[in-house]
Amino acid sequence: MERLPALLDRAEKSATTSPGKEGVFASLIVDRQGLIRAASPAAERLLHAPPGGLVGRHCGFSCSPGEESEIDIPLTHGERLKAIIHCTLTEWEGEAACQITIKAQPGRRNVFHGNELLRALVAYSPLAIIATDLSGCVTLWNLAAVQLFGRSDVEMRGEKLPTQAASHGESLYDLFERVMGGESLHGVEVNGLLHEDGTPLELEVWATRMNNERGLPSGVLMMFGDISSRKRIEAHIRRVVGHDLLPGLPNRRQFQKQLQRLLKHKKQGEMLPTLVLQLGLDRFRTINKSLGPSNGDQLLREVSRRLAEALYETDLLARTGGDEFSILLRGTHQIEDGARVADRLRQRLAEPFLIAGQEVFVTASVGVAVAPDDGLEAEDLIRAADSAMARAKEQGGDSVQFFTRELDAQAKNRLVLENALRHAIDRQELFLAYQPKVDLVRRQVVGVEALLRWRHPEMGLIPPASFIPLAEHCGLIEPIGLWVIEEACRQLHAWDRAGLPPLSMSVNVSVRQFRNNDLRDQVHLALARHHLAPERLELEVTESMLMRNTPEAIRMLERLKSLRVRLAIDDFGTGFSCLSYLADLPVDTLKIDQSFVRGADGQIRNPPIVRAICTLASGLGLRTVAEGVESRQQLDYLASQGCDEVQGYLFAPPLSPEALAEGVLSGRLGALPAA
Ligand code: C2E
Ligand code: MG
Ligand code: MG
Repeated sequence: MERLPALLDRAEKSATTSPGKEGVFASLIVDRQGLIRAASPAAERLLHAPPGGLVGRHCGFSCSPGEESEIDIPLTHGERLKAIIHCTLTEWEGEAACQITIKAQPGRRNVFHGNELLRALVAYSPLAIIATDLSGCVTLWNLAAVQLFGRSDVEMRGEKLPTQAASHGESLYDLFERVMGGESLHGVEVNGLLHEDGTPLELEVWATRMNNERGLPSGVLMMFGDISSRKRIEAHIRRVVGHDLLPGLPNRRQFQKQLQRLLKHKKQGEMLPTLVLQLGLDRFRTINKSLGPSNGDQLLREVSRRLAEALYETDLLARTGGDEFSILLRGTHQIEDGARVADRLRQRLAEPFLIAGQEVFVTASVGVAVAPDDGLEAEDLIRAADSAMARAKEQGGDSVQFFTRELDAQAKNRLVLENALRHAIDRQELFLAYQPKVDLVRRQVVGVEALLRWRHPEMGLIPPASFIPLAEHCGLIEPIGLWVIEEACRQLHAWDRAGLPPLSMSVNVSVRQFRNNDLRDQVHLALARHHLAPERLELEVTESMLMRNTPEAIRMLERLKSLRVRLAIDDFGTGFSCLSYLADLPVDTLKIDQSFVRGADGQIRNPPIVRAICTLASGLGLRTVAEGVESRQQLDYLASQGCDEVQGYLFAPPLSPEALAEGVLSGRLGALPAA
């Protein structure tokens, strides 16, 4: 008689080494009554039983010696075991017995028949689900696990959990051991687990020990969620919140926090002046556009590097806007040092940058604010430095400006005005005045320019120069500009119906409106709504608008021109046009800026320029309109130079629609005043 371990061992070995017989092999000794008398460890694993747990149980299936048959028996958790069994006669403790070899087919084990819901849950779970037996061999490996770990279920079933891990991390097998040791894991982040290709995974794990129906441990169930993308986003947020992405500098929030901390500290002790600088690059948008965004980023990195080099290590440099930097000078308390440091920074930036093999020149505007004079709170100081910088920019850039009370008053004033302007359209406080344009050959009014007016109930009439830049700044110019186009078209149609000769209507277009792709459709709609031929409308854009990004400006002009409206360049001569572009622009008219026309004592202020513009326009086949004509001498000079139209107080100031209509119909407006 043989002892069981040897007997079973041999049976299992012979089965596994037989050619073509792959799978999990296990052996049982079953007596005549069908009771299990002995079981190999593999059989215990296969049947979900703890060590020694099968002995004495009914085997649950029958077979005839010498035959192979297929069995299908229920296991725990709704699983069923499908296997081929082979039975041979043997002897056990002096009695005849059967030795049963069980061969479980990979892929057929663990098929859920009993519980479709559970099967579907496991199969479709987005979590990787792995179950093992007591020895850490895989009994379940769902699709998400295949995807997460890069190993197929066929490969893994029946195999021990992998023991390899990334350095200092835990392997799947380590986790199994922790859980077998009595630990339960609830959403614990683990590191060390590896994808088949060696990539470390960032996972969250839930794991528990499973028991069989008798309450004995039967293995481990683990579920894994992939948190690598969440981790990436978290790291990103940390970087963004804490540091600005691009040059790796603190951002506005951090700057403000540190400044506030310093000011708070100072408030308690002696208060030496604290200096805050706000530095903005001039014309960065244009530079960025011409360089392209990635080169623009490189330029900003270089700029921040130079700024950092030019400062003391104790100073704080932060990037607080697309092309703006805030600087807290910690080492200096002399107000004059603010200007000195600002100049040093500007000098460092004045050296050309080499970006993508190209020399790039940059200038900067710097605003300086000083605590305690300009504020005791971080927010106030930053705002003060900001408005000082804005002033430096307004004055042409490339300079340093200290914050002043006057600036503060202006900023507050602006805020009040901006709020009032928000309601101006609804409250019908805006209206248009119309200034006639007189044809010098025909000596009659041929058109008008619509000029925006704002009558505020308390502040009275506010000149466009005060509120248009503001409307531009806060974005209100777009709805306002749209209203102007509508209203001007409506008025022109009303004059048509009132029997006026067909005048042309000039409307000023702001930078923001001009850049808006909707402008063409807005104009088209207004013309259609008021039954106007497109040639009746002339849009005025300033020369400086065209110089900012000329290829883009040409594209926009061409879009507008496709409507067949007329286009004029306003304030011509002040924007330093690159004359070679002029021939490419689809414009019809040049408006000579009044600064060249209006001189002392009614003289022409700058005859050579006026003459040059007239010659240029006639050479290019463009019409000329002179603005600001106030005297007979100016008019005569313009006529002698072949200027086509004039506009100015000599004929009329901007008028109400009624006064304009009356003046045109009576013929009074076009008539030349007596010399
Ligand atoms: P602009 O388009 O160059 O308009 C000509 C300005 O010169 C007008 O000033 C007009 O009243 C003034 N003017 C005309 N003739 C004479 C004169 O003989 N002597 C003097 N001293 N001035 C004269 P206004 O109406 O104050 O407009 C100023 C600027 O505001 C305009 O300059 C234009 O750039 C802007 N603006 C006016 N209305 C609008 C509008 O509806 N939209 C936009 N975007 N800008 C507008
Ligand atoms: Mg104009
Ligand atoms: Mg003008």
